[in-house]
Amino acid sequence: MPNRSNELTAWDRDHFFHPSTHMGMHARGETPTRVMAGGDGVWVHDISGKKSLDAFAGLYCVNVGYGRTEIAEAIAKQAHELAYYHAYVGHGTDASITLSKMIIDRAPSHMSRVYFGLSGSDANETNIKLIWYYNNILGRPEKKKIISRWRGYHGSGVMTGSLTGLEVFHNAFDLPRPPVLHTEAPYYFRRNDRSMSEEQFSQHCADKLEELILAEGPETIAAFIGEPILGTGGLVPPPAGYWAKIQAVLEKYDVLLVADEVVTGFGRLGTMFGSDHYGMKPDLITIAKGLTSAYAPLSGTIVAEKMWDVLVQGSDELGVIGHGWTYSSHPICAAAGVANLELIDKLDLVTNAGETGNYFRQKLADAVGSHKHVGEVRGDGMMAAIEFVSDRDDRVFFDASEKIGPQIAAALLERGVIGRAMPQGDILGFAPPLCMSREEADIVVEKTAEAINAIFGR
Ligand code: PLP
Repeated sequence: MPNRSNELTAWDRDHFFHPSTHMGMHARGETPTRVMAGGDGVWVHDISGKKSLDAFAGLYCVNVGYGRTEIAEAIAKQAHELAYYHAYVGHGTDASITLSKMIIDRAPSHMSRVYFGLSGSDANETNIKLIWYYNNILGRPEKKKIISRWRGYHGSGVMTGSLTGLEVFHNAFDLPRPPVLHTEAPYYFRRNDRSMSEEQFSQHCADKLEELILAEGPETIAAFIGEPILGTGGLVPPPAGYWAKIQAVLEKYDVLLVADEVVTGFGRLGTMFGSDHYGMKPDLITIAKGLTSAYAPLSGTIVAEKMWDVLVQGSDELGVIGHGWTYSSHPICAAAGVANLELIDKLDLVTNAGETGNYFRQKLADAVGSHKHVGEVRGDGMMAAIEFVSDRDDRVFFDASEKIGPQIAAALLERGVIGRAMPQGDILGFAPPLCMSREEADIVVEKTAEAINAIFGR
């Protein structure tokens, strides 16, 4: 009988077109196939039985941890009772309607409706369409441009890949496309002028935004989109005063704010939403990952009452809104969402994300913060990053070809812990399940220090 693992590896190389993977190296067998098979809490194991502590929660999405039978049972029950019905022309299920109510109960108080999708990318596509619709209904057809930040991540569709401000997602894809514009990344550690205080740097970012709005014409700028804390662009918390200064500019020019909370929604920063955490007052909030802890694919656009009123006016003028997915609010995914949010409350995971997250980041800073190749240890809540530099005093970065970040992530994996080499810069990222304990955090810290020492020496 053929060995199952070898058989799967061969099929994988020959037939599986993986996302975010070096296609040639993988097809030639130069990068490993890892066939994942099971998980429990923060741990996952592969088909060979090798266990790893997943300190990135999949793709920062398995917030309640692996192996939660409550969610598995809710999914099975829904699949038995009614696996599918659409949500067009006023249809719903107990799960989808209940989930809408649960989301609005948890969202900032000025939000009133949820539109469901399946991925963070499609939710951001919905946002752009709603923003255009909104301005058309208000009689401002020229107000259509969307400003995003360099290093922001908002998905990999045509529009959302344009919003994303990372080179690897643009290269050879003819992105970014208009009407998307990019402005300064709120990345204090990488600022050019090192004499600036954090507050001054935030003001500089707000000034850059205002310059862009004025150069383009405020009557053409519809919205600004940002993650409360930069995620895939490097896990970078906003510099002091950033969101207050940015929002002042947006208000001045009547520009909508989209908070992309695909990563931060439902507790990752130790608060239910990142918008509450950093004092943002968005018009739209994007949610996905933590909504179901990835037990089933589900995303959403949460709409502020102010926008909703205009959208309603639109359908009174134009008829049915011409926007819908077959799988919007899919009953199985909605059932997973309800069970997931109940579990987050029952286990008090939002509090744990704040408390254990603080403990974890402090321990990480104590263990590796003074290493000569560690430029910064940063993060917030249950998100942490270590940025590596070739020269700490002069803040010189390694050449990308040295692949320092990927080497350290690989050394860490060898030691049984999954961290993520972030795509731009030598940055090791952590976003563990919100249920991580202090003992598990200690393992991540210990193995990270070992991995760093293995690559650089002490
Ligand atoms: N927005 C943010 C902030 C994300 O981090 C991601 C994915 O990582 C997305 C949007 C896109 O979500 P998806 O991969 O589900 O399309």
